[in-house]
Amino acid sequence: MSVYKLKKFHIHSLRGRLTLWFVGLALLTLLSVGLYVGQLATQQRAASVGQALHATATAAAQLMGASLRERELDIALLSQELHVTRGPLDHPDLLQSLQLRRQARNELVWLGVVDANGTVIQAIDGLLQGQSVAKRPWFVAGKERVFTGDVHEALLLAKLLPANTSGEPLRFIDFAAPIRGRDGQLLGVVGAHASWSWVTDTVQAAVQQTGRSAGTQILIVDRQGAVLYPQTLVDQARLKNGVANPLPYATVTWDDGRDYLTSEVVVDAQTDNNLGWRIVVRQPLDDALAPAHALRNRLIGLGVVAAILFGLLALPLAHTVSQPIEELAEAAHRVEQRVGEPQYPQSTRLLEVLQLGQSMRSMTASLLAREQELETLNLTLEAQVLQRTHALAAANQELERLATHDALTGLHNRRHCDERVAECMAISQRTGHAFALLILDADHFKRINDRFGHATGDAVLQQLAEVLRAHTRTTDLVARYGGEEFVVVLSQNQTTEAVALVAEKIRAAVEATVFPEVGHATVSIGTCMWAPADRSVAALVHRADVALYQAKHNGRNRVVAAPPPGLAPT
Ligand code: GH3
Ligand code: MG
Ligand code: MG
Repeated sequence: MSVYKLKKFHIHSLRGRLTLWFVGLALLTLLSVGLYVGQLATQQRAASVGQALHATATAAAQLMGASLRERELDIALLSQELHVTRGPLDHPDLLQSLQLRRQARNELVWLGVVDANGTVIQAIDGLLQGQSVAKRPWFVAGKERVFTGDVHEALLLAKLLPANTSGEPLRFIDFAAPIRGRDGQLLGVVGAHASWSWVTDTVQAAVQQTGRSAGTQILIVDRQGAVLYPQTLVDQARLKNGVANPLPYATVTWDDGRDYLTSEVVVDAQTDNNLGWRIVVRQPLDDALAPAHALRNRLIGLGVVAAILFGLLALPLAHTVSQPIEELAEAAHRVEQRVGEPQYPQSTRLLEVLQLGQSMRSMTASLLAREQELETLNLTLEAQVLQRTHALAAANQELERLATHDALTGLHNRRHCDERVAECMAISQRTGHAFALLILDADHFKRINDRFGHATGDAVLQQLAEVLRAHTRTTDLVARYGGEEFVVVLSQNQTTEAVALVAEKIRAAVEATVFPEVGHATVSIGTCMWAPADRSVAALVHRADVALYQAKHNGRNRVVAAPPPGLAPT
């Protein structure tokens, strides 16, 4: 199994990296788009909700302003009606007029006339009749001018009127206008208390007209930002700084810590003393932006899903890119390890990879060819060296042979013989064991040459060598000492008798041999035993030579043993 086979997904592989890049880029792009579009949608949503809130607030403020103005005008007109100004204030027509007003304006909880001293002269249902309202702010202001008062809880009337079904305290808005006689003197004051719920119903009606979305609340706040309506938020919430924004709406953090998209419109009642009320419409920012946030979340979710899909698509795509490269790596590995035939990618359409494969293929081919060439060259060189070494060894061997052997007979030559004799002498000197030396000389060899020719003489010499070989041991040394002279060195521990026997055996063998063309030939042999007194090879050979001479002298074809050194031959 090759290390280059990365069939499994690996984070550091080309495939892994490409896939991760695909997924990462897709995720980044889609998340960016999602967040950007989400942001745009949020801004647009905030703008449209803000505008809607503002429209609601405007409608409510206008409706409320107009209503207040209308009520104030009603009271002002009532104070100027003839049967009011003409007096007296306890006239029954006046009460009827009050009752007619009341029928038209159901919200007027109390409607009555008060004399200049503050005593209630007539009132619908006789409420507070005869009581003094001299200290009431509406009366004090109403003596001077047409008056619309701030909302307040009922003090005197609370005891006289049925309680609110909702349990909220009874609250009123006061209206008052002076009653003046023809000469302009103050006769009294027309006063009215309108139920606060009439105001809030007006505002709620405006909200219902413009429609409302989740969590939208409409509030009435006074000049100081204190909430007047709804009752649940009275003393709970406060619009401190108002919506100080060039836009008609803003995001405001309210007392409950939540952010609200808030729009605020001042109620312009065009009444004598402007109340400075404001209509505030608010919606929790989360509720207002929920659709935009939902869109953003959907886009992000889609982005993640798309990135996963991209990843799944990218995996096979990355595979098509990485596979040929893995195959190239595998091919290179095979070339390096010399395992099988390298397979270069064929199916890829990537030009660069194809070119790389082509280059690798030709590079491998030329490398292998070069290697083959070198190998062949190496083999040739090795073979040549081996051949030369053999030839040299053979030549050396031949040289050695030539240096130590005789060319004609193949026996050892004189030089080698002398060396061996010297070695034997050294050994005998050390061990004290004697060896023997035989010198043989062909008898009357000159005659053979003369009679049969030199070549026949040579043949006789060769045959003589064969006879000597045949009658000596392999441990013995047989050498051609010169011309028709031979030396036989018999190995150590010889006795005179044994030497004599060997010499005689050789002599007899030669005598018995039939030489072609020549017939019979003989040899004379001089033998000598090594003696410690022999100082040199020459001395030893000389002793044998002397014995040979003696044999010749004694008639040839015989053996003569040399006496020990210092003695004359026998
Ligand atoms: P003897 O030894 O019995 O006294 O007589 P001889 O004839 O052998 O004596 P001599 O030593 O005078 O002659 C030796 C002859 O051997 C002389 C020479 O022609 C011959 N001879 C020496 N070497 C060779 C050789 O290599 N080949 C041939 N064919 N003849 C050789
Ligand atoms: Mg001779
Ligand atoms: Mg001779």
